[in-house]
Amino acid sequence: MKYYDKIIFELSRPGRKGYELPADTYGNDALSHLPADLMRKGQPELPEVSELDVVRHYTNLSTKNFGVDTGFYPLGSCTMKYNPKINEEVAALPQFTQIHPLQDVKSAQGALELYYNLQKALANIAGLYEFTLNPYAGAHGELTGLMIMRQYHISNGDTKRTKIIVPDSAHGTNPASAMVAGLEVVEVKSKPNGSIDVEDLKPLLDDTVAGIMMTNPNTLGMFETEIMEIAKLVHEAGGLLYYDGANLNPLLGKVRPGDMGFDIMHINLHKTFSTPHGGGGPGSGPVGVTEKLARFLPNPRVKKLDDGTFIIETGEDSLGSISTFLGNFGVMMRAYAYILTLGKENIRNVGPLATLNANYIKESLKDDYLLPIEGVCKHEFVFDGLKDKSTGVTTLNVAKRLLDYGFHAPTIYFPLLFHESMMIEPTETESLETLDEFIEVMHKVAREARETPDLVKDAPVTTIVRKLDETTAAKNPILTYSSLMGK
Ligand SMILES: *Cc1c(COP(=O)(O)O)cnc(C)c1O
Repeated sequence: MKYYDKIIFELSRPGRKGYELPADTYGNDALSHLPADLMRKGQPELPEVSELDVVRHYTNLSTKNFGVDTGFYPLGSCTMKYNPKINEEVAALPQFTQIHPLQDVKSAQGALELYYNLQKALANIAGLYEFTLNPYAGAHGELTGLMIMRQYHISNGDTKRTKIIVPDSAHGTNPASAMVAGLEVVEVKSKPNGSIDVEDLKPLLDDTVAGIMMTNPNTLGMFETEIMEIAKLVHEAGGLLYYDGANLNPLLGKVRPGDMGFDIMHINLHKTFSTPHGGGGPGSGPVGVTEKLARFLPNPRVKKLDDGTFIIETGEDSLGSISTFLGNFGVMMRAYAYILTLGKENIRNVGPLATLNANYIKESLKDDYLLPIEGVCKHEFVFDGLKDKSTGVTTLNVAKRLLDYGFHAPTIYFPLLFHESMMIEPTETESLETLDEFIEVMHKVAREARETPDLVKDAPVTTIVRKLDETTAAKNPILTYSSLMGK
């Protein structure tokens, strides 16, 4: 069966066409170089449509989704900030997009310089010695960082250090990456305010501990005030500290993970450094380390020689290669443009504004939504559902109702510490007007939950698809275009 046998081109009409052939870049006899058995025997079966059909089809499809360019996206833990369009222009420069990873490095010096400079800028921001930009995402960075941790202990002959301490509030990727890296996960409890319980940590620290994974501010958006004490305890026990940098946004240019005592960290360029994300990529999860760990960083690496030229190098003690070539270069270009357009002076404003926005929403809504942890949060915070739960309206219902009002839902049912978690992160890029509109709608939904609960339970009603049966959607997803999808 041909792959298109099942596809119905419902817009196709015989003979209709709309195309423009690209200039013949390879010369007229290009086809004569192709082996005859690879040549197509008949016409391809393609939809026959006019240019206008194509324009309308794709333009209509593009409006069926929700993105940060279409509306407010307070998805906690994801830092869905606006991605400035200048980053896109930079990333599209043909001088970079036309480079082939296998071409002579002498002819790709600009790209290597960008890699090197970005790596240095991140090291400055993080307070660490050196970064690799090769990993493709935060979780991939975690895996890379934990492999470095293991390699470090093994190189010291310390082979029984196989345990990694992870807080019970951690993002799911933390224990998952630890398992893939061959480490055994030991959970440390949080105190009621969400921070690590140092007394619970102490008895876990022995000579089988490879290290601890933490994020600060933690998953509840609260700063771990005892971090210096925790770092001291873990280091005294011979372990290393891994920083999950997904929550770096509120600290940017103000506080450095390296100064807090962390030895290894990843940064999600697609969160903190404003490159687009969602839909599975492409992302980038650079990993930074202290000087003593730099020799374990993955291959290949970009080095600067004394004469100012750049080379690609493979280190002998490296844990090996974790990506094809140097990683997702387009994402690096966007992040580099973002850092340069902000500059040292303005990067310091990111954290305070993100923090102010989160606290503004939190304080404005806590009369209607249950705030389990009082006090000043950093870039995000968690509600435990509606305060008044008497009508049975859940966090899921509220999230779906927000879609009807044109807002993306917050992160829901994470962290697992509360039954009705609703995690809100506005980021620094939203205006006061947008925050006020969101607050007004959240109050309105709470009022609906009291007065007309069925309306909220039936939501969403204005979206392309209504509430999905999540089990069926996960087990039997329909991922192809369907003309039955609403207009
Ligand atoms: C997003 C996130 C991750 C994972 O990052 P990906 O780039 O999605 O792989 C890890 N930890 C936290 C706290 C996160 O928010």
